[in-house]
Amino acid sequence: MNPMERRYAEAKSVIPGGVNSPVRAFGGVGGTPVFFQSAHGATLVDSDGKSYVDYVGSWGPMIVGHTHPKVVEAIRDQAGKGSSFGAPTELETEMARRVLARIPSCAKVRFVSSGTEACMAAIRVARGYTGREAIVKFEGCYHGHADSLLVKAGSGVLTLSLPGTPGIPEKLAALTYVAPYNDPKALEELFEAKGKEIAAVILEPVVGNMGLVPPSPGYLEAVRALTKKYGIVFICDEVMTGFRVDKGGAQTRFGIDPDLTTFGKIIGGGLPVGAYGGKAEIMAKVAPEGPVYQAGTLSGNPLAMRAGMATLDLTAEPGFYEKLEAVSAKVADALVTAAKEAGVPVVMNRVGSMFTPFFTDRPVFDYTTAATSNTKRFAAFFHGMLDRGVYIPPSQFEAWFVSAAHSDAEVAKTLEAARGAMKDAAAV
Ligand code: PLP
Repeated sequence: MNPMERRYAEAKSVIPGGVNSPVRAFGGVGGTPVFFQSAHGATLVDSDGKSYVDYVGSWGPMIVGHTHPKVVEAIRDQAGKGSSFGAPTELETEMARRVLARIPSCAKVRFVSSGTEACMAAIRVARGYTGREAIVKFEGCYHGHADSLLVKAGSGVLTLSLPGTPGIPEKLAALTYVAPYNDPKALEELFEAKGKEIAAVILEPVVGNMGLVPPSPGYLEAVRALTKKYGIVFICDEVMTGFRVDKGGAQTRFGIDPDLTTFGKIIGGGLPVGAYGGKAEIMAKVAPEGPVYQAGTLSGNPLAMRAGMATLDLTAEPGFYEKLEAVSAKVADALVTAAKEAGVPVVMNRVGSMFTPFFTDRPVFDYTTAATSNTKRFAAFFHGMLDRGVYIPPSQFEAWFVSAAHSDAEVAKTLEAARGAMKDAAAV
């Protein structure tokens, strides 16, 4: 047993599967998960001291890179002042102002502690607001693990091929309709049949959880128009895309105006935060202003507010998103080059600093087309990259995340590693 295997065995003896979130267990690629001890910029350092270029970025939050001095200083300063009061702080108001300034569709925002919580609360508010019970989600989209939402969810569930949703009452799952992504006609048919029962539609405006799948031209506009027609609350899940694919997220990049939006990841700067916000009339339903109950001991946590504010301020610097987009395009191009050289069919989907190379020769625009990927080939590529010091998501059905700390040196290292790893993939 090598040291990494020993760490994993020890973890498994005290934690289910040895991990605190399933995708970390390498179920989709096999082998032993890497345990990490530190990180800086675009670099992760494992518990044996080996360094990797990081394209997971903690699954999205680390947009300014790891341990950015301004974020570290903010957390340190706040830790000395108090880490939780269970009472209001002006930090929450300051943070809310920052979020609202960048998200025109939101009049008010409520902070919670995770993306799961944000989506769960947004669904409850939509049900309370409309008085309807059913919701619609899309095949392969993931909105956290709340009961109503863990039906045909992407990434972790897709990777592990979990059959259905044990532990979730059938009666509750029956209230969640599932539609194919990027198919406005299917949604219209569903609304024609069930529109009056449906409280909300929740979607990832750019999907990250079946691998990166962009919305087809006109799709988000069609969802907006249809939900308006049927009086259904349109919830945009920007937990991944918010402050990532543009200064305001996918809704500012694609110019859509949802009723509610959920956030997470970047707004916590690496600490546990989520949020949901939206139209004044709907947010007025949230307790104590309105009757829909939602609460949290650590909601609006001061440490997390400070880390989030420091991160958002860094992303507000001029040219931040343009530079990030340019580096991300270079990385994606490098991967395509390496795949071509090795004769491996790869379809590259990218929006801003999120992308996925799918090991397939067909365009990927929904769950079914994503599933055409050769996951064995991806697994060989993954381990080829890992061996060569590049840490990528351990699943074909996840997005890669680039940070502002990735430089040309990291791009060059990635290309070199990808040249070798694509040859490994070609051998499968
Ligand atoms: N929504 C989306 C789009 C996500 O990608 C995720 C997590 O990856 C969530 C919600 C759940 O967020 P969390 O893991 O913070 O609970």
